[in-house]
Amino acid sequence: MLSERQSCRRFKKGRSGALREVSKRVKGHMEQETGRFVGCDEYHKGVLDALRESDPHIYDLLRAEYERLQNTIQLIAAENQCSRAVLAALGSIVQNKTTEGFAGARYHGGCAVVDDIEQLAIGRAKEAFGAKYANVQPHSGTAANQIVVTAILQRADKILSLGLDQGGHLSHGARVSFTGKFFDVENYYVDKSTFLLDYDAIRTKAIQVKPKLIICGASAYSRTIDFGMFRVIADEVGAYLLADISHIAGLIAAGAHPSSIDHAHFTTTSTYKPGGPRGGLILMGRDFQTRIRAGERQITLAEHIDKTTFPGVQGTPYLNNVAAKAVFFQETLSEQYRQRQFAIISNAQRLAGALANRGYDVLTGGTDNHMVLVNVANLRPGLTGLVAQKALEQVGLIVNMNRLPYDTKAASVTSGLRLGTPIVTKNGMGHEQMDTIAGLIDTVLRGIKTAGDIEYSLDDSLKTSVKDEVVRLSQEFPMR
Ligand SMILES: *Cc1c(COP(=O)(O)O)cnc(C)c1O
Repeated sequence: MLSERQSCRRFKKGRSGALREVSKRVKGHMEQETGRFVGCDEYHKGVLDALRESDPHIYDLLRAEYERLQNTIQLIAAENQCSRAVLAALGSIVQNKTTEGFAGARYHGGCAVVDDIEQLAIGRAKEAFGAKYANVQPHSGTAANQIVVTAILQRADKILSLGLDQGGHLSHGARVSFTGKFFDVENYYVDKSTFLLDYDAIRTKAIQVKPKLIICGASAYSRTIDFGMFRVIADEVGAYLLADISHIAGLIAAGAHPSSIDHAHFTTTSTYKPGGPRGGLILMGRDFQTRIRAGERQITLAEHIDKTTFPGVQGTPYLNNVAAKAVFFQETLSEQYRQRQFAIISNAQRLAGALANRGYDVLTGGTDNHMVLVNVANLRPGLTGLVAQKALEQVGLIVNMNRLPYDTKAASVTSGLRLGTPIVTKNGMGHEQMDTIAGLIDTVLRGIKTAGDIEYSLDDSLKTSVKDEVVRLSQEFPMR
């Protein structure tokens, strides 16, 4: 892992020339403003007013969601909270632009401005992640994976990935996903006693399976992933390596988790989990010019991924999302964002420690990232992840149940909880609040009277006192 100082150095590197060129053009666009209509600021300022007037139902629901968020504590590891600048880009008139293709090679007119937006997004993504290639068009993390998988594999080719029940993601080959439907998927597993990735076992499995694609990266794994080791294994068996860093992309951008960029052939991520708009991203490092056979021709992996994005898998890009991604990637370059990623980990470690001290079975004994996995069935034999999630929600602690590796309970109830610290950290909480939250979780989970895997009851006075404390805490740390 990079030390804080090393990662800081990486951040002080200058702007690339291409980005400077685009910045200059932005000024040119502005000189075309005529002022014969209501200004851009005025036009956009009316967005909430317009919603309130034209659709009071949705407006009221939006307000209800705002109130919910301000009065509860968000501990879902797969969520984050974007800035208002990102929200502004998402809700802007850029959403109206239709085009197909990529900057400079579009299939519709009027793209000069959005071309610059997309190029800025690409340049900033490359800068944020130290990548040589970035594709900002994927509509989601799942779509990013679909594009890579479609580019690399033919029907019935083999994928080797972490099983869904072990912490993997649906789009890595689960039977219910397109990946499981069209490809031959084999899984590797975490060690049964330590719950850690066992690279020797993964290598053995890779040699046996001979996959064309190995996927690493997880939705529920709280320890550092050794991308370099995965690449050694991939090279040994002649496989491509896809690193899906959705959950840890922010940590990687900040140097708080080792980067996958130059190890994996392809890195994919969702853009909302690290704190940006919803959407996906595909990155490449040193392999971006590696050649691949596409029909009769040899083309680079970069060209191949572009072509597979459009027209291969997607149609028109969501340019408002692309604009919001550009805003977000810029934010990741700030010292504030970088420091926050280290604070997110520190808070997760504090939360894990506080729960362990209270007798909780924290998987792997702690965490290296933003996530804490807890086996609640080991706290109290009758307790399920589902009951724990529901009871915590009643007091305003928002978490999700999670199937744990080798879980003995059904996927619909699970033994686990997955907690995450990105949002509480963004809102300014620190170690003191992590201790408080651990105490509140403990009070609720020990207070539950279970009645099977799904039903339970919670004492009214306990509910009221914890809920009051949660409201007090969330109002002390409002959304930022
Ligand atoms: C969340 C997640 C995704 C999916 O991203 P969406 O944008 O929700 O489709 C993909 N891979 C992993 C590992 C994830 O955790």
